[in-house]
Amino acid sequence: MQYDHIVIRYGELTLKGRNRKLFTTQLAQNVRQALRHFPAIKVDKKRDRMYIVLNGENPEPILERCIKIFGIQNMSLAIKVANNEEDIKEQALKLLTETENVQTFKITTKRSNKDFPIGSQEFNHILGGYLLANTENITVDVHQPDLEITVDIRTEATYLTSKKIQGAAGLPVGSSGKSLLLLSGGIDSPVAGYLAMKRGVQLEAIHFYSPPYTSERAKEKVLDLAEKLSFYGHSVKVHIVPFTALQQKIHREIPHGYSMTVMRRMMMRISEAVAKKEGILSLITGESLGQVASQTMESMHAINAVTNYPVIRPLVAMDKDEIINISEQINMYDISIRPYEDCCTVFVPKAPKTKPRLEKVEQFEANIAFEKDMEELLEAIETVEIEVKDKQQQALDELL
Ligand code: ATP
Ligand code: MG
Repeated sequence: MQYDHIVIRYGELTLKGRNRKLFTTQLAQNVRQALRHFPAIKVDKKRDRMYIVLNGENPEPILERCIKIFGIQNMSLAIKVANNEEDIKEQALKLLTETENVQTFKITTKRSNKDFPIGSQEFNHILGGYLLANTENITVDVHQPDLEITVDIRTEATYLTSKKIQGAAGLPVGSSGKSLLLLSGGIDSPVAGYLAMKRGVQLEAIHFYSPPYTSERAKEKVLDLAEKLSFYGHSVKVHIVPFTALQQKIHREIPHGYSMTVMRRMMMRISEAVAKKEGILSLITGESLGQVASQTMESMHAINAVTNYPVIRPLVAMDKDEIINISEQINMYDISIRPYEDCCTVFVPKAPKTKPRLEKVEQFEANIAFEKDMEELLEAIETVEIEVKDKQQQALDELL
C-alpha cells in the first residue's frame, strides 16, 4: 500500500498548556534534524499532531528513526484524502485490499470537522457497507479485526490510518534545558544520561581520566558511549578532564579511607565550574543508593556538600538489574563492559569509608592546597563535540 504520510501524535505534550507550542516546536526541530538525510520529506507541525509528508520516500527507515525520538507518543502510516465520500471510499477499499492477510476489518470514523455532512456512526455504516459490497471473503469484526481503518475527518483533509506504532514517549530533547552528565565508562552513568534525555534534557558530558594509568582506549570507550547518547539528541559536547596530578596529590596527602570521598568532591567542584562556564544549571550522575561505598547516604551527603547545583540522579532508586536491562535495550551495555580501567578504580583505596564524616573530610582538605591544581586542571580540559557517526547514517541509508 502506498502511504503518503506519517501521523505523529504527541501524547503528554498535549497536557502542557501554554508551554505546548515550545514543546511542539522543539519536537519538530528534532524530527527535522533526525530526518535530515531524507531530503524529500516535509515536516508539517500542527497544534495537536505532526505530519511527515513522505513525497515518495520509503516510510520504513523513517519510522525506524522516529521511534527513537523522545516526545512522540505514537505514529501511524496514513493516506491523505480529500474530504469527500467517494474519495474516502475508493482509498479505503485500496487500503483494505492491498494490505496482506486481512480477513476481517473494522471502521472507526472520527469527525473533528463538523462541516462534513455525515456523522461518525453513519459513516462507519456507509463505508463498511461499501467495503463489504466490493470485496469477497472479507467480513466485519468489531472486536478483533485483522485491520482497523481509522477515518480521521479533519478540516484540511481526511487521513486514513491503520495500526499505531508505539513511540519513545517522554519529552523532546532540549525542552527541559541543559545538564552536565558526569560520564564514566561504566554501566550506570550512560543510562542516567539517557533517562534524563527522555525527560527533555539536552546533555553535555564531563569525563575524568588519568593518563597514563588509564589508556586511550578507556577514553575512546567514553566517546563511544557519548556517541550513542548523541543519537537521542543530535550532538553531545564532552569535556575531558586530565585528573592524574590531582588524584596523585589526593593519594599522597589524604588518609586512604577518605581519598575516595575527596576525589569525588573534586569531581563535583570541577563539574560545577565547567557547568557554570557553559551556562548549565544542573549536574547528572549515575549514582544509585547503596550500590557501592561512595553511594551510601553519608557519602552522598559528604560529596554533595561542595555544590549548590541540583544533582539529578535518575537511577537513585533502581536495582542494578533494572539498570542493566535499560543499558542493553539502548545498546550501551556492550560498550560499558569493555575491560578498560577507570580513573577511580586505579586509585581506589582498599577500604574506603562507607560512612565518611563531613567535618573530617573538610579538615583533611584544608591541609592540601588544591586551588592551583584545580585552576591548571580547568585550563587543560579538552572539549570534543560528538555527533551521530556517519556509519550510523550509512546504515540508515542502506535501509532505503
Ligand atoms: P558508573 O557505572 O556510571 O561508573 P558506578 O556504579 O561505577 O557508576 P561510581 O564509580 O561510584 O559508580 O560513580 C558514581 C557516579 O560518579 C557515576 O555514575 C558517574 O556519574 C560519576 N563518575 C564516576 N567516575 C567518573 C569519571 N571517571 N568521569 C566522570 N564521572 C564519573
Ligand atoms: Mg564507575
